[in-house]
Amino acid sequence: PCSVLRCSASPDHVDWSAHFPFFFECPQDRLQLNTAENPIEYPGVVPDERNGKAGPHQVRFLDVGCGFGGLLMALSPKFPDKLMLGMEIREQVTNYVGKRIQAMRQGAEGEPSHHNVSVIRTNAMKFLPNYFRKGQLEKMFFCFPDPHFKRKNARRRIISYGLLSVYAYVMAPGGLLYHATDVKDLHEWMDTACEEHPLFRRVPPEELEGDACLEAVTAETEEAKRVKNLGRFGHDVYFSVFRRVGPLSDG
Ligand code: SAM
Repeated sequence: PCSVLRCSASPDHVDWSAHFPFFFECPQDRLQLNTAENPIEYPGVVPDERNGKAGPHQVRFLDVGCGFGGLLMALSPKFPDKLMLGMEIREQVTNYVGKRIQAMRQGAEGEPSHHNVSVIRTNAMKFLPNYFRKGQLEKMFFCFPDPHFKRKNARRRIISYGLLSVYAYVMAPGGLLYHATDVKDLHEWMDTACEEHPLFRRVPPEELEGDACLEAVTAETEEAKRVKNLGRFGHDVYFSVFRRVGPLSDG
């Protein structure tokens, strides 16, 4: 069954200790994914340390439309001190990713790991400012969004000029936005939107050498693997990285 999509009223109402119990020394280990099977309650304002207003632990990396979680699983051990979150709109897919993370935390592959990664079911196009504060995110990932891209559906694009203003709001100045797809038209669309937006500037290729995230973006997501497995009949993966430039937004 599909649950009603609950949403935090503001970042003050998100209890990050439920998502990252290890970092908050919180004994509770029930999955809270905002799905019918693993619900979240947002009962009220949460203490400052736990909602990220104070204290060192805040989500810094966001995978928008994380699908089955391959990118998060790959990035987690590369950046063990960074809290990272996947947002996914599909209920069953979110449950799957939650269980995958929980299994790793319980030592499914040896030492317990992946304490720094979590997932939540939400519509990332609508609710980012309900979860993140101004300037909070250091990296945002948009990997293989919208495989059925058609130019006429422009309003529904997850990267658009209007939504980039929202992304700029939750991103830290200097933060990086990664986008990747195997759909050439979509790549061009996302690139143009980022190029036209005054708060984003393309990161030149020479500055991306050795970028551990880029390798994961183009090879470790489930969609990236699918494209690769198409072998010689497959097509290329197109990607770009843009830097959040300029001062923090007002508001
Ligand atoms: N990023 C993953 C990858 O590369 O393997 C998944 C790509 S998949 C084609 C796109 C995902 O985005 C789907 O799982 C879909 O449910 C999710 N999605 C689409 N719109 C969304 C939204 N507004 N908020 C959150 N997730 C969304």
